[in-house]
Amino acid sequence: MIGTERTLAIEALSGDPDFVHLGTLPRLAIDLRYASTRNLLGRDLYAPHDCAWLHVQAAEALQRADAWLARERPELRLLVLDAARPQRVQEQFWARVKGTPMQAYFAPPERGSIHSFGMAVDLTLVDAQGVELDLGTPFDDTSELSHPALEHAHEAAGRLSANQLAHRRVLRAAMLHGGWQPIASEWWHFDCGDRDAVRQRWRRIV
Ligand SMILES: [Zn+2]
Repeated sequence: MIGTERTLAIEALSGDPDFVHLGTLPRLAIDLRYASTRNLLGRDLYAPHDCAWLHVQAAEALQRADAWLARERPELRLLVLDAARPQRVQEQFWARVKGTPMQAYFAPPERGSIHSFGMAVDLTLVDAQGVELDLGTPFDDTSELSHPALEHAHEAAGRLSANQLAHRRVLRAAMLHGGWQPIASEWWHFDCGDRDAVRQRWRRIV
């Protein structure tokens, strides 16, 4: 059970000083896949809500990452694929993946996703024409090819090319410079701040 005292309705983010709309950040490209049919569930999970929001601390960290990218690789831009994910959508995911091999990729609702606090982001890189770079797998690919922890083995076996790995390293370098933390299983996902502290103290978006 989640108490209501530390929750925040997705509809209320636009009036909350703790949240920043991604559309206000310069250079950032946005294509929220769960606000389209191009996702694992094949349907728009966000309509009619605008989910292009991050907690102000995460938004500042994303700007630091982008500043590094603008300096080091000015021809590239960050493309945000997912940001604030309401708990109600996390529950829809869970109902769909529970008991399948995809379960490992989703946090159970009672624990919840850091996305639901506006403190995680999924993203990739696009070139000057807005075309996505090849990072080895599509977003939300549930194979081991998505796992950063296994990249050396994939490289040695020729399953990821030097180019694909170089693109992943640029994305990670930018995000690490911004203060984000990568995870072992998804090249596109980054957390901001201490996950346990966020779960305990931040307000959850529902
Ligand atoms: Zn994510």
